[in-house]
Amino acid sequence: MLVVIEGIDMSGKSTQIKMLKERLIETGGTVETFHFPTKLIFGKEIYRHYNGEVSYTQEELELLHTIDKMSCQAYIEHCLSGNDFLLLDRYKLSQFVYAISQGIDEKWAKALISRMIEPDIGFLLDLPVEEATRRKEMKDKNESNYELLKKTRRNYFRTAMEWGYKIIDANRSASEINDDIFYTIKYLEGY
Ligand code: ADP
Repeated sequence: MLVVIEGIDMSGKSTQIKMLKERLIETGGTVETFHFPTKLIFGKEIYRHYNGEVSYTQEELELLHTIDKMSCQAYIEHCLSGNDFLLLDRYKLSQFVYAISQGIDEKWAKALISRMIEPDIGFLLDLPVEEATRRKEMKDKNESNYELLKKTRRNYFRTAMEWGYKIIDANRSASEINDDIFYTIKYLEGY
């Protein structure tokens, strides 16, 4: 089963993936996890951009995100055939939402992700931007970044609804959130 966890930075994705992995293993499942962007050749370029080492246009970044994911499709298939679960930290919803929030044409953004393997279930960890900012203890409260984050959260919500992802209130304890995710997966498994 391909399980995807999405949400803005600091929404608790990696915390949930770690907890979920342990819980699925405890209940007898085999689990593989990884996150996008990867640390592979194209993913590395994305991080170099975010670290300020290089500067790409938004369109170039979209292409890098696309090839980073497309070059992992065979590996995703491989993980799915050898395991009960593959848990992904960010995938096509994040790519689409960040793209349109940065002004990329929706049609093009959709075309870029159109050949990627569909998740069996996607979760959006929805967190108020104020709480995400508090978790990050962001010193730079740049107004435009803040507005962009709010717009990104709205686009996540709207798109998750459209795509049938399960929207999770992430402003609760990690174990409450994990219960929601875990039992949804168990239900889908025919639990
Ligand atoms: P992400 O992977 O989405 O960026 P993380 O899982 O790394 O988020 O969590 C970001 C920060 O918030 C970490 O310091 C983590 O310990 C904390 N955190 C995660 N889940 C919760 C929660 N439910 N409530 C409060 N803090 C949380």
